[in-house]
Amino acid sequence: MIKIKPHEIAFDIDGVVADTMSSFIKVARKEFGINSIRKEQITSYWLEKCLNIPEDTVKAIIDRILENPFSTGLSPIEGAVETLEAIAECCPVYFVTARPLREPIVKWLHTVMRTIPPDRIIVEATGRHDLKPQVLKELGKRYFVEDHLDTCKAIHSCGLKPIVFDQPWNQGTVPFLRITDWENIGNLLELD
Ligand SMILES: [Mg+2]
Repeated sequence: MIKIKPHEIAFDIDGVVADTMSSFIKVARKEFGINSIRKEQITSYWLEKCLNIPEDTVKAIIDRILENPFSTGLSPIEGAVETLEAIAECCPVYFVTARPLREPIVKWLHTVMRTIPPDRIIVEATGRHDLKPQVLKELGKRYFVEDHLDTCKAIHSCGLKPIVFDQPWNQGTVPFLRITDWENIGNLLELD
């Protein structure tokens, strides 16, 4: 089993730290009256491909989640906060997101990880998936936990080590490490 030093790893946010798809389902139900979506149905990263709802509606819901994580009830994935807090005891915690807006998600991270001093939470918002490998290289991060398979592949082809965070939308065989929950991540880390 590999052991990762806490300063070698960075994290994607949506679908890894934040339970973004549950937020999507909630907003779809409360504000658009769409009651039919189940998480298991989300078998593609691109929601308009796997859900029978109009592309404009998908975009409107995603924009809400990007702009205001709090009002859309975004919550952390089970176990994420505890493991990130343990990392923050050793070194700053790094996040690299393709979100175009940095501030709303930074505020959200500060709120859900109250015990981590804000200056130990470092967030890079690239605005584009394809910029993640370069940003990770610049940050000197070798490992990256990500739920989007295409991004994992791009990271891998740049000589870095993606770790797939298992989700219904990233199934299939890949030559990367796959983890199913945050306890798994904790076990990979050389903490203390
Ligand atoms: Mg993601």
